[in-house]
Amino acid sequence: MRLITNIQEMRLFSSDVKKSGKTIVFVPTMGYLHDGHGSLLAKGRELGDILVMSIFVNPIQFGAKEDYAAYPRDLNNDLKMAEANKVDIVFSPTAEDMYPEGFQTYLDVERLSNHLCGLARPGHFRGVATVVIKLFNIIKPDTALFGEKDFQQLLVIKRMVQDLNIGIDVVGMPIIREEDGLAMSSRNSHLNKSERKAALCLFQAIMKGKDMYESGIKDAEPILKEVRNIIEEEPLAVVDYIRVCDINTLEDLEKITDKALLALAVKIGKTRLVDNIVLSNS
Ligand code: AMP
Repeated sequence: MRLITNIQEMRLFSSDVKKSGKTIVFVPTMGYLHDGHGSLLAKGRELGDILVMSIFVNPIQFGAKEDYAAYPRDLNNDLKMAEANKVDIVFSPTAEDMYPEGFQTYLDVERLSNHLCGLARPGHFRGVATVVIKLFNIIKPDTALFGEKDFQQLLVIKRMVQDLNIGIDVVGMPIIREEDGLAMSSRNSHLNKSERKAALCLFQAIMKGKDMYESGIKDAEPILKEVRNIIEEEPLAVVDYIRVCDINTLEDLEKITDKALLALAVKIGKTRLVDNIVLSNS
């Protein structure tokens, strides 16, 4: 495994791989790796010849009052995990190299960004789309993997790739959870003992929504109400949003005819967590 921190060196490496006729699979991350990232890497390993993982905490996707400085980082441990997951290249550029003085070009995926997390975090998906297209241009992957835990992010990237004819296969991967159901996230490391316990309400709430849907309730309203009740019963939890929406457009749904996304964002103490589930008949 090789660690590359220089953009030019990464570009050269990728060009050489392409010339040799091999394929590149790419897993973008912000580091502080857990088994959720591990599942993307394991799948990625199967999907092509050279597996590249980026570790980059992207400043432009954090709002001014968000946790960019406090975002957890541990490059040494991440490198060990990358090695164990048979990653070929870890690409970890500096923020100064990615956004040098004078940088002023951003990418907006318009409508999809104006729902769910995009409303609470203005500019977040602009930052995400911009860094992902930059990483795509540097790494030149054939395939890239993203987790469904960040369902909106996955849709934004798929849309960007389609709209701009980028020609990269974008693969979505299921949410990996802790044994008790909490969706794995680097931000879980911020939770103290009582917050960690409280954080379970997200999973309990989406499971309740799933049960209601599967028992025949197809109206969004009673599901939303019950999900909200479960979160609000938890004193440490503050709801940011709870939505039942179309799985392609993220527009709110009143009635579920086929499939729907039940998505929520909740603050537990200072830590904002997201979770979701696709409600489906099949
Ligand atoms: P992050 O480092 O949090 O930006 O995540 C990097 C990639 O891993 C994104 O595509 C995430 O959606 C994905 N990911 C994060 N947590 C999980 C999880 N619990 N299960 C599956 N994928 C995840």
